[in-house]
Amino acid sequence: MIVIMKPGAKDTDIQAICLRATEMGLSGHPCYGVEQSTISLIGNDRSVAPEDFSGLAGVERVVRVSTPYKLASRQSGLPSSAIKIAPGVVVGSGLTIIAGPCSVESREHILHTAQLVKANGAQMLRAGAFKPRTSPYQFRGLGEDGLDYLVEAGQATGLPVVTEVMSPRQVERVAQTANVLQIGTRNMQNYDLLLEVGRTDKPVLLKRGMSATIAELLLAAEYILSAGNPNVMLCERGIRTFEQHTRNTLDLSAVPALKSLTHLPVLVDPSHGTGRRELVLPMSRAAVACGADGLLVEVHPDPDRSVSDAQQAISPEMFAQLVRECHAIFGVLHPESARTSATV
Ligand code: PEP
Ligand code: MN
Repeated sequence: MIVIMKPGAKDTDIQAICLRATEMGLSGHPCYGVEQSTISLIGNDRSVAPEDFSGLAGVERVVRVSTPYKLASRQSGLPSSAIKIAPGVVVGSGLTIIAGPCSVESREHILHTAQLVKANGAQMLRAGAFKPRTSPYQFRGLGEDGLDYLVEAGQATGLPVVTEVMSPRQVERVAQTANVLQIGTRNMQNYDLLLEVGRTDKPVLLKRGMSATIAELLLAAEYILSAGNPNVMLCERGIRTFEQHTRNTLDLSAVPALKSLTHLPVLVDPSHGTGRRELVLPMSRAAVACGADGLLVEVHPDPDRSVSDAQQAISPEMFAQLVRECHAIFGVLHPESARTSATV
């Protein structure tokens, strides 16, 4: 069961509901939205009726939710979430294109790349400072220095910054300066990390585990929501299959499936999803056509020289085409939505 609070409900109202839940043998997990908060009531609620809560102060309505994920579920009847990242940048309202290199390679490199992606229509800058790599001998990022360069590049261009946090002990440091905390595919089920980012109010970009089902992705999102952070965006980035031609199999059917199951925004990463430069543009078009709210794309000034993930990096020119075509496709599907935050 979930309790949907009225906009502007007081903290004391939320606490009173959690107390009532405890008295009835349930536990209450509040998720504090900017406009509207929700509380999931967990436990054996067969003998509990929505009316036990619906009359309490601040309550808008109480809904029974049959899915194992509660706060993430569409059954709540909540409108699609729009996550405010920065003034003029809202994920879930229009098409949001996030671009940048796989890793921060140097201060000059990220400043230059940030300018290129900004000039070609990105609304946010992505890059890894802490890189989870398959081999311990590969480049694993510039760490805290990389984070500082990335934040500087974000400030220089006005682009909000998305970057990965790999462990709970990095969360505080990264949350101080980055605009969005990325949870990578390898960490989708790192529950301590999910809870730690859930205790912040920073927007979180949660990537689908490479072997995770859609339900497992939604339950991972539920960890973050149930820790109190409502600002979760999901990202389909390809799953492991028997196919060897592509790095992963980009599961675009997950996009409309997720959109029907959850109110959270859904993005697509066609770069890791394919691992092949020549497939990034066609899969980006397809992602937008099937309902994605945004794209996360690896762009490099000199793609072949990328220190990590060179085969999937696209050039700024190719990125410019991608931005143009994807916004055109989005415009066909949503003629009512004028482009909001794009700069070209
Ligand atoms: C990334 O986006 O930088 C990344 C490492 O992606 P993934 O976790 O999907 O492999
Ligand atoms: Mn990469």
